[in-house]
Amino acid sequence: MTIPFITQNSVVFECRTGTLHVGDLVNDPVRYVVSSTGICHLPASAIVPADNAAHSFSVDNAQIFFIDSDHYETIATAVSDNGNITPNHDLYAKLRALHKTQFGYVVAGELFDCPFDSDGTFALDLSQLREGLPDKIVGFATDEQALLRRIISSMNTLVCASCFSAEIMSHPELGGSPVGPGKKKDWSLAMANHAIASGWTAIPEEGGFGEITPLCPVCKTQRES
Ligand SMILES: [Zn+2]
Repeated sequence: MTIPFITQNSVVFECRTGTLHVGDLVNDPVRYVVSSTGICHLPASAIVPADNAAHSFSVDNAQIFFIDSDHYETIATAVSDNGNITPNHDLYAKLRALHKTQFGYVVAGELFDCPFDSDGTFALDLSQLREGLPDKIVGFATDEQALLRRIISSMNTLVCASCFSAEIMSHPELGGSPVGPGKKKDWSLAMANHAIASGWTAIPEEGGFGEITPLCPVCKTQRES
């Protein structure tokens, strides 16, 4: 069975020793004591903004790892040795197999309707932790609106992965960035729709932004011809 370590609506990881290290591998991780064992999952809503709260952790490079304490040093060192590129799903898959540990990983904006959509200080609401896989495993949405939204939500801009010169940086009415708490979701969706209306697309293909390739109207037409 292939375990979906990233789904659209939850993060999946293994708890083995009862201590989970959570963080971005740049700042010191925070340790959570967990009573669940084996494969567990947390819904997107369990990653909450938490300035100065107990068990909060800082994120400065838009990613969060969930690693059982036995393997934290090994995984953190291996990711660091490979340049700490965000995200590097091929490397993470190799490390999970090599070290036989199923750590979890989320990049900002990757989970839909998740408060973690940019750098900041966060904490986990472990009351939402459940053993096993999510009941409903939702894979990455592959329609162009969802793909564009994932890039925009993470990068706050959209650059063509083919010509690297075309860019959409702001919405005609909403401007260049989400304004106000909770507005990022609405803004990134409006931006995705604006990009589609302007002739952009995104395809689920390696290149540009991880496993997504955004294309401007000119490059989209060239590819189709
Ligand atoms: Zn282009």
